[in-house]
Amino acid sequence: MLLVDSHCHLDGLDYQSLHKDVSDVLEKAKRRDVGFFLAVATTLPGYRAMVDLIGERDNVVFSCGVHPLHQDEPYDYAELRELARSSRVVAMGETGLDYFYQQETKPQQQASFREHIRIGNTLNKPIIVHTRSAREDTLAILREEQAEKCGGVLHCFTEDLATAKVLLDLGFYISFSGIVTFKNAEALRDVARYVPLDRMLIETDSPWLAPVPFRGQENQPAYVRDVAEYLSVLKGISLDVLAAATTENFSRLFHIDRLRLTTG
Ligand SMILES: [Zn+2]
Ligand SMILES: [Zn+2]
Repeated sequence: MLLVDSHCHLDGLDYQSLHKDVSDVLEKAKRRDVGFFLAVATTLPGYRAMVDLIGERDNVVFSCGVHPLHQDEPYDYAELRELARSSRVVAMGETGLDYFYQQETKPQQQASFREHIRIGNTLNKPIIVHTRSAREDTLAILREEQAEKCGGVLHCFTEDLATAKVLLDLGFYISFSGIVTFKNAEALRDVARYVPLDRMLIETDSPWLAPVPFRGQENQPAYVRDVAEYLSVLKGISLDVLAAATTENFSRLFHIDRLRLTTG
């Protein structure tokens, strides 16, 4: 069995006291059958530093992009386009809109989001979308920029069922994090029951949002197994079936050779 953490911030983990280094994190994950990782960028300097930190590994791929909450300083779209060309970059992002934490950068967030989709469409690389308190604008921009061409995933999904349906109609994938295990997440569990198995991804979004029973501690890729186990019970299927499906979906969405996703 191979589980994939489709969204982790490997540069944000605690390397002072919790982990020795990146290899240590990946080894702990492997012991729980988590063997492949998408390391997600939030700024361009952060992307460069993250690539340096992690290095070239068979079981780690990257996204490149600027998070909606990092739009207070302008950045160079041409630089984003250039960095995104690299073969190690399988996705654009994370991008999207976050009006919950920042209202004053709305115009910059929207322009940046559009640019990520345009580059994704040009390079045929899917987008990783973050949205919070911005449902209408997120869906409008996805439609206007024809994001169904490059496709993508709504990561760390916390929206309602109606939003999930619109995204599925657009061909998007829905990714569930540890939030689905939280006590008060009944509405989200309804969405997870609804989303077809062939459109579902799993993630940690580590170092944030550790699933039960680690809630409140720092999250790490190993814990995507707890998300997977929880979802398999919710869907009434075995963990093996859920693992195979989400790994297959990951391979399909991000154009990663299935042979690379082995337990080896
Ligand atoms: Zn996010
Ligand atoms: Zn994230």
